[in-house]
Amino acid sequence: LDDTDPLVIIGTGLAGYHLAKEFRKLDQRTPLLLITGDDGTFYSKPLLSASLAHGKTPAQLATASAEDMARELNAEILVHTHVTDVNRESRLLTLVSDNGGLRSEVRYGRLVFATGASCAPLPAIAGDGLSRLFRVNTLEDYHRFRTALANRKRVLLIGAGLIGCEFANDLVQAGYEVDLVDLQPWPLANLLPEAAGRDIQQTLEQAGVRFHFGAGVASIARRADGIRAQLAGGPSGDDTIIEADIALAALGLIPNAGLADVAGIATNRGIVTDRELRTSDANIFALGDCAEVDGHSLYFVAPLTQSARALAQTLTGTPTPVHYGSLPVAVKTTLRPTVVCPPRHGSQGEWQVTATAAGVRAEFLDGAGKLLGFALTGNAITERDALSKRCAPLMD
Ligand code: FAD
Repeated sequence: LDDTDPLVIIGTGLAGYHLAKEFRKLDQRTPLLLITGDDGTFYSKPLLSASLAHGKTPAQLATASAEDMARELNAEILVHTHVTDVNRESRLLTLVSDNGGLRSEVRYGRLVFATGASCAPLPAIAGDGLSRLFRVNTLEDYHRFRTALANRKRVLLIGAGLIGCEFANDLVQAGYEVDLVDLQPWPLANLLPEAAGRDIQQTLEQAGVRFHFGAGVASIARRADGIRAQLAGGPSGDDTIIEADIALAALGLIPNAGLADVAGIATNRGIVTDRELRTSDANIFALGDCAEVDGHSLYFVAPLTQSARALAQTLTGTPTPVHYGSLPVAVKTTLRPTVVCPPRHGSQGEWQVTATAAGVRAEFLDGAGKLLGFALTGNAITERDALSKRCAPLMD
């Protein structure tokens, strides 16, 4: 390996930048190159679903520009530049810049995928109103959505998962009327037992959110002053109509693993890595939303910061596996504070629920009574640390 060839990181989201910071703490000499399709602004993505009520502009969420980051990291950062091909034999990346489609090549010493995840494709929705349907997965998306909200009042939200419920909480507090539609029977149904989901639902309903469960959006028609959505599959038949100004879909994420896949690197749901974040190519690594680390696809900040620390060690000569413990996540439904610590994917067990007016405490236990995950709402969140300590780690 020629050590003038840089460590190249594709992606300047939290995963790419955290890794670059951790790497520079241990190695100030190796050339470092980050490449990103966006403008390289450093920002905290979780704030995107909790900033409307506070009137936060995109500029206020931008903590540092790519230039600031390049200086801080002693790195080169190529912005508005897409990696379109990885030649693993010659260790060459093909780059295409937004700026007139200029093509170039760059050689890497070692390569890291921090390419994140994209919004899952929309289900089939008929009608001519789709231009008023938004998704928010980047700071630029937030800018577009916030601009479209100006002088508007009614928002149709599609998807009552983690991000959908956070947006409902944020929008309703920012003064918008919110209709929230989901195919599932209660909010956050993939993460929470019914009692905890209903508890959040009740609080959001009191604040004005209207829920429509067991229903999908069949069509969105454009109207002079907004949109008209028709639901399908709901308990009240197929005729529910929702009038709104604009719509926002929050329907989950798909890891950006296509580039790795085309390069012949093993992918499954995400880019497959071992616990050292190494892909099927010993010279190429992955972390963050794009990575499937020893079978775990987790779209949260805590695992990526742990991965960044471990990978920086590995890349500077001390092979260090990552070890995911239990993963409590604060759901930013601030009207009803909630913590969820999801059990490992595919775990066998049952929820045991204690519900009072003050909050819900739910433990996910296996047959032997071992704690595999938990969910807490309201006052019960004070038990977060105690339960986290008792809870089985995601990785043995
Ligand atoms: P990303 O931020 O998606 O970054 C990907 C980067 O790769 C981008 O810079 C992109 O330009 C670049 N890229 C991709 N492909 C290419 C290519 N071919 N060429 C060049 N560049 C490329 N997690 C929590 O733990 N708690 C929360 O409360 C929470 N709230 C959230 C709220 C919202 C609204 C969202 C959307 C997510 C939330 N998350 C939360 C998840 C968390 O934000 C993500 O797990 C994390 O930000 C992922 O970072 P990443 O760097 O892996 O990916």
